[in-house]
Amino acid sequence: MRYIFGPVPSRRFGKSLGIDIIPRKKCTLNCIYCQIGKTTDLTIQRKPYIAVNPVLKELKKILGSPPKADPPVTEKVKIDYLTFSGSGEPTLNSNLGKIISKIKKITEIPIVVLTNGTLLYRKDVRNDLMKADIVAPSLDAILNFKRINKPHKKLNIKKIINGLLSFSKIYPGKIWLEILFVKNINNSFKEVIALKKVVQKIKPDKIHLNTIHRPPAEFCIKPLKYNELLKIKKILGGPSEIILDKKHIETDIKKLNISEKILKILYRRPMRLRDIKAIIGINRKDILKELWLLERKKKISFQNNWWSRPLKRL
Ligand code: SF4
Repeated sequence: MRYIFGPVPSRRFGKSLGIDIIPRKKCTLNCIYCQIGKTTDLTIQRKPYIAVNPVLKELKKILGSPPKADPPVTEKVKIDYLTFSGSGEPTLNSNLGKIISKIKKITEIPIVVLTNGTLLYRKDVRNDLMKADIVAPSLDAILNFKRINKPHKKLNIKKIINGLLSFSKIYPGKIWLEILFVKNINNSFKEVIALKKVVQKIKPDKIHLNTIHRPPAEFCIKPLKYNELLKIKKILGGPSEIILDKKHIETDIKKLNISEKILKILYRRPMRLRDIKAIIGINRKDILKELWLLERKKKISFQNNWWSRPLKRL
C-alpha cells in the first residue's frame, strides 16, 4: 500500500483509514511544530501529484470490492472515517475532488479532509472539498501566523482568513477547526482574542484545541500545560474542546527515550524508516536497533517497508 495507511486510532476521528495523496513534505507551510519534519518542498502549486486510479485501486482492495480473495479489513476493524492526511498538504493535489467523488461511489464511510486551509482562497480548492463530509482546517494564529506556520512567501493571513470565510459560507458539511498552541508563540491573550474574532465569523461546528505532544520539527519549542489550554477554552467559548488528556499533554517529549519517541510518532500513523529518521534525527543504525527491539517486544510491526503500531482488532 502506497497511498492508504492504517486504520490508525485517532482522538478526533476514531478508527481512521488514512489516504495520503501528496509526496512527502510537500506543503504550503513549514510549521515549527510539524510532526513529520521540516517541509522540503514549500509550494503553493497545485498539480496532479498522484493519480486517481492507483489510490482507488488500493482503497477497493482494502474495502473488499474486487479483488475479493482476502477478507476485507472492514470485517476485522471498524473504520469510522476515511481521512485525507499524511505527508503534506492534501489540497495541493489537483486530483483531490475527483478522488473524493470516486470514493463516494464505492463506500458510505464518511470522508474527512485534514487541511491547513491555506489554499481555500482558490475556487477550485473550495469546489474539490464540497463532497467531503468533514473538512478539518487548522488556524493557529492571526498575529503570529508567520512565526508559527512559516508560510510560502505568496501566502498571507488575510488571504487565508478570506478563503476560510468564503468556504464556510458555501460548504454543506461540517467544519472542525483545529488550533495548535505553542508556548510563548500563539498563546498570548491578544492572540487568543484575535483568533476568537475570526473563529466567530467562520462558525465552525467544532473547535479542537491542541498542543505539541509528539516530537516536533523544531525541538526548542514547548507545549502548553493543560490548565493553560483550559483558560484558552474559556476565552474562546463556543464549541471548543481540548482534544488531549492531561497525561498526554504533560509528558515532557524531551525526556522521552528513543523508543518512547518512536512509539509516540507511530501512534499517529505508520511510517517508513527514512521518515522516522527525519523526525528523530539520529543515525539510521541506532533507529533500526530500537525498531527491531520494539518489534521483538511486539509493540510495533513491520510490513512492506512500513513500521506501525498494531491496532487492536475489534
Ligand atoms: S501544514 Fe501540516 S504538514 Fe504542513 S508543515 Fe504544517 S503541520 Fe506540517
